[in-house]
Amino acid sequence: MYDVIIVGAGAAGLTAALYTGRKNLKTLVVSVDVGGQCNLTSSIENYPGIEKMPGFQLTREMEKQVKKAGVEVITGKVIKVEKKSAGFVVKTKSKEFEGKTVILAIGRVPRTLDIPGEADYLGKGVHTCTTCDAPLYGKKTVAVIGGGNSAVDGALEISRVGAEKVYLIHRRVDFRADEMTLEKAKKDKKVEIMTPYSPVEIKGDKFVKSIVLKNNETNEGKELKVDGVFLEIGSIVNTSLVKDLVEINESNEIVVDTRGRTSQEGVFAAGDATTVIYKQCIIAAGEGAKAALEAYNYLTGGKGLGFDWAKK
Ligand SMILES: Cc1cc2nc3c(=O)[nH]c(=O)nc-3n(C[C@H](O)[C@H](O)[C@H](O)COP(=O)(O)OP(=O)(O)OC[C@H]3O[C@@H](n4cnc5c(N)ncnc54)[C@H](O)[C@@H]3O)c2cc1C
Repeated sequence: MYDVIIVGAGAAGLTAALYTGRKNLKTLVVSVDVGGQCNLTSSIENYPGIEKMPGFQLTREMEKQVKKAGVEVITGKVIKVEKKSAGFVVKTKSKEFEGKTVILAIGRVPRTLDIPGEADYLGKGVHTCTTCDAPLYGKKTVAVIGGGNSAVDGALEISRVGAEKVYLIHRRVDFRADEMTLEKAKKDKKVEIMTPYSPVEIKGDKFVKSIVLKNNETNEGKELKVDGVFLEIGSIVNTSLVKDLVEINESNEIVVDTRGRTSQEGVFAAGDATTVIYKQCIIAAGEGAKAALEAYNYLTGGKGLGFDWAKK
């Protein structure tokens, strides 16, 4: 019986593991991969204390620290977490683990277009996080795909950080983004709005060179020379493993309170999979630390949090 089973080894899960390990709690991390979405960015430049580092290197450092704290990290996809009379059972296809508490840190997966070239150029010109990667495109030409606020805001941000030209490409004529944001994009001389176009292929050599579009009214094809493509078409959380265990909101996120507690006592959650806004590595890490301390607090009957600098 583990004290804590953490599902997911992204920034949230690894930080939670560091904290529970250092509290001498018997901890198991079960995850499909180690690093999660942070691995997808070639350069993290907004994680304090680290000026610039490839995402996978940052998560390798986290993993080293977690293992040094005595935590067991194994590869596996959790298909179900169930409540038992005492604690919880965490199931993969071939194994079952029992834990007194569970921390869910399952993150999100960016929604993709599923078109030729997209997967080949992920991280080599195809990006799914504008806030993170826009600064790489100073004086360059990029395409932003999507019709919501994040796409329109994204196009404005890329223009603001110095891109030469930004195509904002949406499959419909009407945008879901709010009017004010859209007005700003229409007034921005570097942003060209292209509707109703759907991307059909991304081409390049080592890096992206162009994007092929289809006009959804006329079927006419078009190829635009671009240095980068930003997908701002949302992301998804797969909460099927806990849908009968914890409250999930309409966006399929795990509902947590400000202490990382879910609706199920003994189950905590952190990071991008939760209702906490702003999906960033540092935020996921901080929320992971909170969930871990809360699990410790739960396991010690509320005696655990006696930091003298944080007396209640
Ligand atoms: C391309 C890209 C670039 C980004 N760049 C930056 C940046 O520069 N700076 C920044 O601060 N943020 C950046 N972000 C956002 C940041 O990566 C996320 O906010 C952060 O990774 C969230 O961490 P997390 O641990 O909550 O989730 P994730 O990183 O998504 O990790 C979830 C983990 O859970 C595992 N998992 C999921 N389901 C299961 C299951 N059923 N069983 C077992 N394991 C499971 C996954 O394999 C993964 O390891 C970027 C995001 C993307 C997509």
